[in-house]
Amino acid sequence: MTQTQPTTSAATDPVHEWDAHNEHLATLLDSQDLESMDALPVLQWAADTFDVGRVVLSTSFQYSGVAMIHMAVEAGLQLRYATIDTLRLHSETYAFLRDVEARYDIDIEVYRPDAEQLQGMVRRFGEYLFFDSKTLQQYCCQVRKVKPNEQLLKTVDCWISGMRRDQSDYRKDTAKGMTVGEYGSRRQILKLNPMADWGEDRLLAYIAENDVPRHPLYDQGYKSIGCFVCSTPVSANEDQRAGRWRWFNSDDRIDPQEAKECGLHIPMYNI
Ligand code: SF4
Repeated sequence: MTQTQPTTSAATDPVHEWDAHNEHLATLLDSQDLESMDALPVLQWAADTFDVGRVVLSTSFQYSGVAMIHMAVEAGLQLRYATIDTLRLHSETYAFLRDVEARYDIDIEVYRPDAEQLQGMVRRFGEYLFFDSKTLQQYCCQVRKVKPNEQLLKTVDCWISGMRRDQSDYRKDTAKGMTVGEYGSRRQILKLNPMADWGEDRLLAYIAENDVPRHPLYDQGYKSIGCFVCSTPVSANEDQRAGRWRWFNSDDRIDPQEAKECGLHIPMYNI
């Protein structure tokens, strides 16, 4: 586990500096039929296409993220691995992070919230602000997750995520490849979701066949795992992300499309 000191993409960001880079990414995306490719070929393509050190597989240690770590390590791909530590994760997640590092002999970079931003937020709104309104929950997610993720993304050209279409209604159209903007810059990043079209049954079969480590909270009824207050177990007939911010489930003022998103996967989302 490494506490990171990111190197940024550029000290300056003149208007035209990223045009060629962005066009190159768009051409790459157009030239590859990612939708027809399975997860491992997508990972392989990313490793072959971008410079070493410029591709990160970012995981919160759910099924798809760990399955892709397994695939990448088994295939000998040179990727970086990273996670966002909100400082509010379950104790099981911290232990599992070390288990995954040991099992695959990899170093997982850890990105954490900025101390000043965090202290300012808590001073102003309290530790449990996320109970008070959707806006304050999103603010907490911005400080604890999205901002650290932005620091990570400044250091890469390609971001691999474990998003899948079957996780929620919001995610049902998730593309396997897309460009997203780096916050505060015109630079774009290629985001890949290699397991977008994997259903849970296929994923569980892959995990069982390959003895991929499973986050221990799955055995306690969790289907989506985040911070310890904001993620809870779900029942059999609930959406996989129904356990996230459960206290908002019956609030019909909240847009159901975004109700279960923290902002990490909403491009250029900021409040
Ligand atoms: S999941 Fe909850 S505790 Fe974690 S960052 Fe979001 S609002 Fe804050």
